[in-house]
Amino acid sequence: MSFGPLESALKRALEAPKNIPVSSLAGMLCCDDAGFWEEVRSASYSLKLKHIGPAVSFRGLVECSNVCAKDCYYCGIRKSNKNVCRYSLPESEIIESALLAKELGYGSVALQSGEIESEANTAKFEVVLKALSQYLGVTLSLGEQTEKVFQRWRDAGAKRYLLRIETSDRELYSRIHPNSCDFLRRQNCLRILRDLDYQVGTGVMIGLPGQTFDMLARDIAFFGETDVDMIGMGPYIPHPDTPLKGAWDSEKAYKLGLKMIALTRLYLHDVNIAATTALQALSPRGREEGLLYGANVMMPNITPLKYRENYKLYADKPQTDENSAESREALSEAIISIGERINYHSEGNSPHYLARHS
Ligand code: SAH
Ligand code: SF4
Repeated sequence: MSFGPLESALKRALEAPKNIPVSSLAGMLCCDDAGFWEEVRSASYSLKLKHIGPAVSFRGLVECSNVCAKDCYYCGIRKSNKNVCRYSLPESEIIESALLAKELGYGSVALQSGEIESEANTAKFEVVLKALSQYLGVTLSLGEQTEKVFQRWRDAGAKRYLLRIETSDRELYSRIHPNSCDFLRRQNCLRILRDLDYQVGTGVMIGLPGQTFDMLARDIAFFGETDVDMIGMGPYIPHPDTPLKGAWDSEKAYKLGLKMIALTRLYLHDVNIAATTALQALSPRGREEGLLYGANVMMPNITPLKYRENYKLYADKPQTDENSAESREALSEAIISIGERINYHSEGNSPHYLARHS
């Protein structure tokens, strides 16, 4: 098989961002040749070295609440799942967990939860942000909100917001969400966040039922059109209590997850890309592999252990106590073993965002 056209597309991709047509991205995703993919991986890694260096930034992830008003068909904590024991960490516990992250040397935290739109929830995160933002970079991932709420959280010190579009394909989006979930509202939230000068992150699930290589290639183009600063994407993993559960190929989802990281780095060059827990769920060294495919951020879970089993977005989500000295040592060794270092005490801002502000 000749990879001539794909190889020349790969060369051009290295020259400038967005210098690769969607059809070539789809062609690469479709190709399964190990030799060709080693070239793609190595090209992506060289871009990471150029823009970021052999370094990984940590964001301590706090899963603040599994209460959610939404019913996404793929998600284990969707509101209709009656098998979930619901919890919400009080302000004090969120702050305590985040400050523990600071002690562990993390320069930033990500606060994530189900989607709640209420004055009480808005005010709660204002309190948390005011307590934390002088010490740590804070990323929020609290779902869709109004412009006013995004503004209040920005004023209280939030710097980054992660809101995955899940899929940029409107038709697939409508198949994996109930009618009440509006693609355009989600897309508009990304625009508002950008206008409010957040570092904006988005991403997709990879390996969804009915998702094609073309759709994934267009997802990468969507990231470029939206001009995002951060990408958090990972394999879709079914959850048994959800309507979307069903036939699924774990190895395919894992491989595609790595390929998407490499192609996104090749397309966008200087954004932050996370090696997500979903990769680790499918392979114990999944996150380290993600780094070798071009990712530069990891999100060790620092949620207090007693809450973890109730924040299962998908089946077999790793429950490791990443605060323990043992697992921190193991993670640090794994990172060193691939020739990278950890950016301790650094907020790990997106170079793409910093370039916009220089
Ligand atoms: N409620 C917020 C944030 C929490 S959910 C929101 O939806 O934006 C965080 C992410 O978990 C979602 O964006 C989705 O991409 C991911 N997720 C949910 N269910 C998943 C599954 N079954 N497999 C993989 N990722 C999943
Ligand atoms: Fe709620 Fe987010 Fe899960 Fe959708 S993906 S059900 S919004 S927690």
